[in-house]
Amino acid sequence: MKFALITFGCRVNQADSTCLDGDLRAVGGRPSHFEDADLVVVNTCSVTASADQSARKMIRRVGRSNPDARIVVTGCYATRAAEEISALPGVEAVVPNARKEQLTDDLRALIRSLPKGTGDGPCGVPLETAAPSRTVHMLCVQTGCDETCTYCIIPSTRGRGRSRSIEEVLERVQSATDAGFKEIVLSGVHLGSYGRDLSPSTSLLELAKALDGQRTDCRFRISSLEPMDCEPALIELVARSGRFTPHFHLPLQHGSDNCLRSMGRPYSKDDYRRVVEAVREALPDSAIGSDVMAGFPTETESDHDESVRYLADSPLTYVHVFPYADRPGTVASRMPKKNATNVVRRRASELRAVAAQLQGRFRRSAIGTVRPALILEGGGLALTDNYLKVQLREPATRNSMVNVRINSAAGGQMMGEIVDSIYNSDVGVEGTPVSIRPANC
Ligand code: SF4
Repeated sequence: MKFALITFGCRVNQADSTCLDGDLRAVGGRPSHFEDADLVVVNTCSVTASADQSARKMIRRVGRSNPDARIVVTGCYATRAAEEISALPGVEAVVPNARKEQLTDDLRALIRSLPKGTGDGPCGVPLETAAPSRTVHMLCVQTGCDETCTYCIIPSTRGRGRSRSIEEVLERVQSATDAGFKEIVLSGVHLGSYGRDLSPSTSLLELAKALDGQRTDCRFRISSLEPMDCEPALIELVARSGRFTPHFHLPLQHGSDNCLRSMGRPYSKDDYRRVVEAVREALPDSAIGSDVMAGFPTETESDHDESVRYLADSPLTYVHVFPYADRPGTVASRMPKKNATNVVRRRASELRAVAAQLQGRFRRSAIGTVRPALILEGGGLALTDNYLKVQLREPATRNSMVNVRINSAAGGQMMGEIVDSIYNSDVGVEGTPVSIRPANC
């Protein structure tokens, strides 16, 4: 049975697809291009109207180019608009997020009726390195969200927070490292709430401590973490451990307290400022990223100016800017006042200009430094621990861990060269320890 996985949207969806990829291989599937696959799973996103549109377009394209394929659609768009998707040509099943974890079981009957692949589906077929075609392994440790951000559709499409047990996460980390992955990104819809639903309850900090103690040779990256969940003990662990990359992604959403309140975000701008400063102090070279929204319904010109000013003075190193767009069913979509589209666009572009300055400043500050880095897909690009993508002078072996010297940062591109392989050296970045422990240390 040949299968194709098409994934839209966030890191959580990518992590779900990675799990599904492993599960489908374990029941005898072979990955293939969608034009040639017996089964095509489209994992959708519904964060914006254009995400919905891209998913519809792709489903139609699969149906046209491979009319024999059985198309199964899952993800947030499938959860929010199942009927709309069922009506698209060729769609055999629509699976909501609530059943995503059982998707492979649901697909078993379908898979049995399809041509067999190379194996007959013994359990435990190992993950292939970088399946599906990614060098970094996305590991979803949590899904769902109990927060009530007024603009967000996720709590209604993903349900309440649910976490994998620490034991299960450790097992998945072990199988990913056995398969050769050298970087694992811990992801979740509301990652900072990890473990609150478990019995007995636990926390992201406890999970991080367990990972810190695991004898594997991979590094961990913590994906997006809500600012209220970024506790001092976690920052301290990341700074001291050497197993975690110096990288925090802390979505601010808005630099005005008025807007934070109407967005239902449970912190103030000053709370956020303190968290970011604590990270910067503990990890001076770290990447600190954020998400900021432009044009929220209650946003005034002065709220927007406040947001711009906060960003410009902040130590953030990159910012993703999202123009506000109504998601049907959210509290924000029913707010009476809305900013005109041209105002939202203009504010987004002003925020992006500040974001570009912050990123440029961080990139320039990295010139001359040597950072541990993972060689990505084509071999010509290295991803540093502090989240810089460096174009290499000479290509190297994909999935190898090296020390890279950053030589320049011009025209939006960072250039560098490999100094040495990480395991041949016990000298790290400018006198600090290398960020990876060799296996069996
Ligand atoms: S924390 Fe807020 S923005 Fe994030 S998933 Fe939950 S409701 Fe959505």
